[in-house]
Amino acid sequence: MRTLIIHNPRSGFGSDAVFQFERAVAQAGDECLLRILEEDFVASEACADAGDFDVVVLSGGDGTVSTLLHALAGRDVPTCVFPSGTANLLAANIGNAPEPSSLARACRRGMTARLDLGEISWTDEIGQRRTRGFGLMSGTGFDAQIMQAALPNKAMMGQAAYFAAALANPRPSVVRFTVTIDGRTVEREGITCMVANNAMIQGDIQIVPDCRMDDGLLDVIIVETSDATQLLAPIAFGLVDRAGKSIGRPHIKSLKGREVRVEVSEPVALEVDGEVMPGLVRSYEARALPGAARMVVDSMSPYGGADEGPSRFGGSDVIAYPK
Ligand SMILES: [Mg+2]
Repeated sequence: MRTLIIHNPRSGFGSDAVFQFERAVAQAGDECLLRILEEDFVASEACADAGDFDVVVLSGGDGTVSTLLHALAGRDVPTCVFPSGTANLLAANIGNAPEPSSLARACRRGMTARLDLGEISWTDEIGQRRTRGFGLMSGTGFDAQIMQAALPNKAMMGQAAYFAAALANPRPSVVRFTVTIDGRTVEREGITCMVANNAMIQGDIQIVPDCRMDDGLLDVIIVETSDATQLLAPIAFGLVDRAGKSIGRPHIKSLKGREVRVEVSEPVALEVDGEVMPGLVRSYEARALPGAARMVVDSMSPYGGADEGPSRFGGSDVIAYPK
């Protein structure tokens, strides 16, 4: 097996887990090339030779990984997401066993699933058209404000920085969103409008139910509230109902579609997979890229099959304890 690891050393806490992964791959006798990204890396250049390898491992935070996945979209290279960032939500949503040796094993087994990516486009403040790929979600409004506020504390506090930032911004501004999904338009007032390829956020909470990255659709999520303490209510619901199936989340409106256009009544901040874009926007377009990533998955992943064969302890789930 020839493995290419593309690693961003500026992601997260500077964990050395990716080097454990590299050792696990090399110990098994496989060839492994470790490419360290420069600060101003160009994603298409960093993975230009990906086709020369059996597996490409993307190691970094959600922003880095999604940028690289977008550059690899449609290339059909088996790709493994390695969690080296602060939150690692994309890796969590893919759901593989996260330990370096487990991921090395998943790469060797080579089970893959074709999973969707998202793509978002907008016009920036100097009139330039910009396009970014995303693995998780992107959006305008309060979520972008939270990401911005969390930035100074991410290195020290990790995921708690997001919650601290949400609590420190209790009165987000309410704007009017005009959302067109596959030709159908709805209007809503709210504090944020996000497009999601995945809906599991910090704390294993599903903010909307049944969001999958293999249905070829984006979920559009509008949070209709003016008070962050109301936003915390669905999060609290999530703590007892992680699957997000419960009723009683009146403030979250969710829709599904392949192509989405969002117009906002006033300029708002935009974030893409947790990275705040410079300037403010009045509108954006997003679309699903169905099956664009060929992702390494294991039997722990909701997108993986049972690859381990029957248990040597037998297939019964009835356990007979001695009396
Ligand atoms: Mg989907």
